[in-house]
Amino acid sequence: MKLRFSAVAVALAAASTLPALAQDKVLNIYSARHYQTDEVMYDTFTKTTGIRINRVDADDAGIVARLRAEGAASPADVVLLVDAARMAAADAQGLFQPIKSAKLDAAIPANLRAAATADGVTWTGFSTRARVVVYDPLRVKAADVANYEQLADPKLKGLLCTRSGSHPYNLSLFSTVVERLGDQKGEAWLKGMVDNMARAPKGGDTDQIRAVASGECGVAITNTYYLARLIKSNKPEDRAVTERVRVVFPNQGTSGTHVNIAGAAVAKHAKNRDAAVQFMEFLASPFAQEYFANGNNEFAAAKGVKVDNSALKTMGGDNFKAETVPLASVAKNMTKVQQMLDRVGFK
Ligand code: FE
Repeated sequence: MKLRFSAVAVALAAASTLPALAQDKVLNIYSARHYQTDEVMYDTFTKTTGIRINRVDADDAGIVARLRAEGAASPADVVLLVDAARMAAADAQGLFQPIKSAKLDAAIPANLRAAATADGVTWTGFSTRARVVVYDPLRVKAADVANYEQLADPKLKGLLCTRSGSHPYNLSLFSTVVERLGDQKGEAWLKGMVDNMARAPKGGDTDQIRAVASGECGVAITNTYYLARLIKSNKPEDRAVTERVRVVFPNQGTSGTHVNIAGAAVAKHAKNRDAAVQFMEFLASPFAQEYFANGNNEFAAAKGVKVDNSALKTMGGDNFKAETVPLASVAKNMTKVQQMLDRVGFK
């Protein structure tokens, strides 16, 4: 297989001014995403470009630690991380480099990328997930959780459950809400949520959904793909959980539902910069979007691309209004929001 491909690449190189022996190129990707469907995507990139992919899998924190430890000697070309807050934190540590790409500019909405500078853009989102509200219809009315702002309403006293406020998913959501409401109202909103807690924050998003189903909580915040996993689960007890709860895409009548990203950036010390940019452009293609987004039950990030996902449809994710506050504002507000969380006692 590899031999046959080499022959094609050599023929191409000989017949044109294409870079010689492109098949010798290797792209080193440090990835915090591991889904089976990703393999087809990577293989297709190699088949169409001749660039072999060498992947290092770790979790987000592990990748950042490794990049820092390796410094200028790092072989990493592309870095795949999950959540704008993590992207922004890695960016602030100087682990990425800005790139210029007309293809990415055209394909990916600017609000799903780092702020553009004269040198270009560092990180880019390639799939989106919405941060939605799940509630118990026996205890809470849909109209009382239609907006994120209402999560601080005393009406919901003793009902709210969430994972830690400092978790990147919440830091990102809270940062965009603070961006919209301003500091004073934003902090009051965080305090109101603390006053409404059914229990101290603990666990992950799936734990919150389960706790609503069991009656321990009345309202919870979760990323859409966790709910999608339960909907698609082959365990009847998981599907029973999803039948017991209802989901709301908040702020449909106003600013839109908060969406976050899984994304990529070119590493600061990339040795294969051009191939790295080429890979990022490939990720924005409709073909790659289908695999990248659907592999984790996420929405496509590229304009005009819709992935076909039954679970997302079931929860009403087929056509919702998404927030357009730039995710770059997460980078700007993150530290401030963490200080607010400390002040209001949001664990
Ligand atoms: Fe997650």
